[in-house]
Amino acid sequence: MLVLGHTNPDCDSLAGSISLSAFLTKRDGKTVTPIMQGEPNAEGIFLLEQSSLACPEIRTSIEGEEVWFIDYSDFNQAPKDARQAKIRGIVDHHKLGDFETDEQLEAWIWPCGCSNTIVYNMYKIHNIEIDKQVAVMMLGAILSDTVHFNSPTCTQIDIDAAHDLSKIAGIDDIDAFVTAQFAAKSDIAAIPSEELILRDLKVYTIGDKDFSIAQIEITNVESALSRKEELQAELVKYKAEHGYHTALVILTDITNLNSISLIESEESALVAETLGGTFVGKLIDLPGVVSRKKQVLPPLQGQFK
Ligand code: MG
Ligand code: MG
Ligand code: MG
Repeated sequence: MLVLGHTNPDCDSLAGSISLSAFLTKRDGKTVTPIMQGEPNAEGIFLLEQSSLACPEIRTSIEGEEVWFIDYSDFNQAPKDARQAKIRGIVDHHKLGDFETDEQLEAWIWPCGCSNTIVYNMYKIHNIEIDKQVAVMMLGAILSDTVHFNSPTCTQIDIDAAHDLSKIAGIDDIDAFVTAQFAAKSDIAAIPSEELILRDLKVYTIGDKDFSIAQIEITNVESALSRKEELQAELVKYKAEHGYHTALVILTDITNLNSISLIESEESALVAETLGGTFVGKLIDLPGVVSRKKQVLPPLQGQFK
């Protein structure tokens, strides 16, 4: 049995493959292996270092395997041969995707801020102990996905789970931990622009149009804005290659909880207006926007469906 998160793995996907594998191994007494679809990001590497856990093996083929998916429920974010896998379970906190199964499955899909909050509750419901190292990863995932409890996606069960996990992890000072974690993810100087615009990217089909929405979450947006021209040049190339209707790269200031987005679109002004922002100089100002899931995707779906 394998457990894997989505493409462009974030902390929730990374930590989730580990925490859910450990849970299923303990609950079902089977060998369950965490895998990833790509390299962890800087924030993920920070969490692996803090927990002293090994990085899951990177695999992009799962044909014929029994699998659990965590942090998504659509084939678009799964390995190309995922339709040939046997889906045994899903843990997710996004809108329902297009996964189909031939057989029964276990689905834990809750409207909370992080998949690891759900995994935490699975441990609780089944009365299974969480390992200290795994708790470090789970806590980091919740802090990342909820932007330290500031995202509109954050719920009380996320906060409760994080506080309990911090005790299990032996982390007394969550603020200090999250400051170090966010510093790790904000260190983008060494990341080439073509890589940066793809790092946390999701593609959504809305009506007959494809929207590519990337998000760069950093404590210092100026460091990204100082590279505006080269990021824009990469975005122009990327959009043309894929023929998307719109390509956004949302720069989210996780200190002040605002965003500015780079945009290449067939209808830039309309997209800006739909998101409640102003379109100036190929940028959209998005005051108060932190969550792609809750504040960006729903208005686009409302406008373009
Ligand atoms: Mg995710
Ligand atoms: Mg998540
Ligand atoms: Mg995220």
